[in-house]
Amino acid sequence: MLLGFQEIIGHEGQIALLRRAVERDRLHHAYLFVGPEGTGKRTVATALTAAVQCSTGTGDACGECASCRAVAHDNHPDVHWLEPRKGKRDITIEQVRGLQQQLALHRFNGKKKVAVIDPLTLMNLHAQNALLKTLEEPPDHSLLILIAESTGGVLSTVLSRCLRLSFFPLTVEQVAAIVAREDGISEDRAMLLASLSYGSLGKALAGEDETLLEQRRDCFRRLAALSPDDARGISDLAEEMGKDREQALRFLDWVRGWLRDIMVLQVTGSAATVCNRDLLEPLQQAAATRRVQESTAALAEIDNVTRSINRNFNRRMVLEGFIPGILGQQ
Ligand SMILES: [Zn+2]
Repeated sequence: MLLGFQEIIGHEGQIALLRRAVERDRLHHAYLFVGPEGTGKRTVATALTAAVQCSTGTGDACGECASCRAVAHDNHPDVHWLEPRKGKRDITIEQVRGLQQQLALHRFNGKKKVAVIDPLTLMNLHAQNALLKTLEEPPDHSLLILIAESTGGVLSTVLSRCLRLSFFPLTVEQVAAIVAREDGISEDRAMLLASLSYGSLGKALAGEDETLLEQRRDCFRRLAALSPDDARGISDLAEEMGKDREQALRFLDWVRGWLRDIMVLQVTGSAATVCNRDLLEPLQQAAATRRVQESTAALAEIDNVTRSINRNFNRRMVLEGFIPGILGQQ
């Protein structure tokens, strides 16, 4: 789906800057969009592409003209998306060379030749070095949009030739507004899905089905009732949550929100900004029986645990070591 700049929720500053540049025909030749997954970098890249090509020339996509429709259907002859080929891990040097040939051609009917590279971090160093040439001597009427979650592994020479725009997680309210619009679902459910997404629209729109929501509630009821010296209970929960990588990462996402809410209750004493509203009772129970420092320590540990899970350490053992920290001393 194509959204114009004015239909996008959030990222106001970044969009205002891009829109002004399109209107005045003062676009930089290369932009780097950096920010966590699911925050809308591709949505903004598509809006920028359509705004550039739109035949109305208003600085935003009209959504109706042949150019806008071609961008929306991903078949505009002057727009190229560079992604890893199916089943491949990297964007290769051959793909970059292919893109460079495309950019050297005359424009078909677009106002610019646009290339979107997503994600930049999957470009190996050979490919990045090849891309440098294009960044140093951009062909006339070309626009490059590079997308990345972080700049780790990206050559500094590549970074220094792009204008960087940072994207931050959306607020729960922004995600909820978008979810409600996309799916036409109730406001309450949109809030719940949004609160589970931690600012990632992609996650909120993927939705959590009822089975998952029930599993999550069950997991927290057990966590709330579990004592730190119940080795058997901890081991059972670790085994279940560690049954595969996806479940283990989901569990860590849940715990992140859970600990955040406990801290909100401990610090503010109010449930007004608690995200996991359907779990208020066990949350209050946990908030009353543990110290704030225990929550912050467990929260800080989540990144390490995530890394261990991603490196294929033994999931049950990793979670067994982590769960007592979530429970506090009680
Ligand atoms: Zn248009």
